[in-house]
Amino acid sequence: MPRASIALGTLIACLRAEGVDAGGVYPNIRFAERIGLAAYERVNHSDITLQVGEWTFAEAAFRDAAPPGGEYIETLAPYFSGWPGFATEIRELRAEAVRFIDEIASNIVAGKPRIVGCSSVFQQQCASLALLRRIRELDPDIITMLGGANCEGAMGAVAHERYPWVDFVVSGEADHLLPGLCHLILDQGRDLPAPHVPAGVYAPVFRRGVTRSAEARAIVQDLDTLPIPSFDDYFAELESSSLCSRIIPCIPFESSRGCWWGQKHHCTFCGLNGAGMAFRSKSQPRVVEEIAALRDRHGISRFMGVDNILDNRYFSTAIPALTDLGGLSVFYETKANLSRAQVQQLADAGVCWIQPGIEALHDDLLALLKKGTSVCMNVQLLTVGAHLWDLGHLESSLRRTGR
Ligand code: SF4
Repeated sequence: MPRASIALGTLIACLRAEGVDAGGVYPNIRFAERIGLAAYERVNHSDITLQVGEWTFAEAAFRDAAPPGGEYIETLAPYFSGWPGFATEIRELRAEAVRFIDEIASNIVAGKPRIVGCSSVFQQQCASLALLRRIRELDPDIITMLGGANCEGAMGAVAHERYPWVDFVVSGEADHLLPGLCHLILDQGRDLPAPHVPAGVYAPVFRRGVTRSAEARAIVQDLDTLPIPSFDDYFAELESSSLCSRIIPCIPFESSRGCWWGQKHHCTFCGLNGAGMAFRSKSQPRVVEEIAALRDRHGISRFMGVDNILDNRYFSTAIPALTDLGGLSVFYETKANLSRAQVQQLADAGVCWIQPGIEALHDDLLALLKKGTSVCMNVQLLTVGAHLWDLGHLESSLRRTGR
């Protein structure tokens, strides 16, 4: 389903809190409308290693330099045997993406923004690059920015080096630096001198032979200092969409960043967090205030935690408080070594869907993965969870882990 973005919601709130006139755009809803929800979901739920989303927008981003895709489509065919007319339809999606980007870029430019930024995670890099490139062509005075997990560290440096239509690239957490950066750009234009460029930001000045003193990644230490995210733009877009009755919205929320387990024993396969593994979490009053405020504003009780891992301290703080709030339906990612009492607590609080990172049912493999769990713990969670939760949620959780 086309979802609201925690990054966009948080950044918009940060900008408005510091007096920057900012608004969010959700082309994901319009694109689902354009190509049909079924096709959108086929791409959305395809195996991420196939990168179908990136391929779909590659031509819009790179024009003639994008590989034509004949061989790639042949490689994909076995994965989409249940998609009738797959090869034809996926080519049509790519062609539609070119027209769509032109249309969205034209709409954005018509609003006469001074700065346009895209937050890019997972398969959003080509679509973001395509949109910023077309905006630059339509109005070269508009200053462009790119950030998000796809710009972390070396990826941000390379994006800045390779895509001249992107003025600023932010590596790391932009929440606190973005308002100040926007004020500087609005005052001085895109050619900020190097000493004015915050740590973690790649700016046009660094393309002219000025070197950075050191690579850096922006980070927010105290998550309670962040404003409550704004999803008004998402819900406005959704309400005006012909898909409104078919999309069941869910509000994203963030109670922590980093991973307390990975900080000590980084799971072997984990590619999350880049250099930002240090675990930080919001206080219990803040978590409850945020969820209650968003529920009351949008009249929705379905929440999706974007945390990598549930803060274990919440079992004595936030989880009982969410139970008192009542009536919630919450998704959380957790570690798998939950006790029966903890699972009961989660169920009581309305946490009805978890992604526990079971990964394997083989002790040697779990040790190699550095999961810090055992087959017994995983089986216990599955049996306790099956008893307390809707089995359907567990089944989908198992499908996601490939078991
Ligand atoms: S628990 Fe999850 S986020 Fe943490 S290191 Fe392991 S895979 Fe990564």
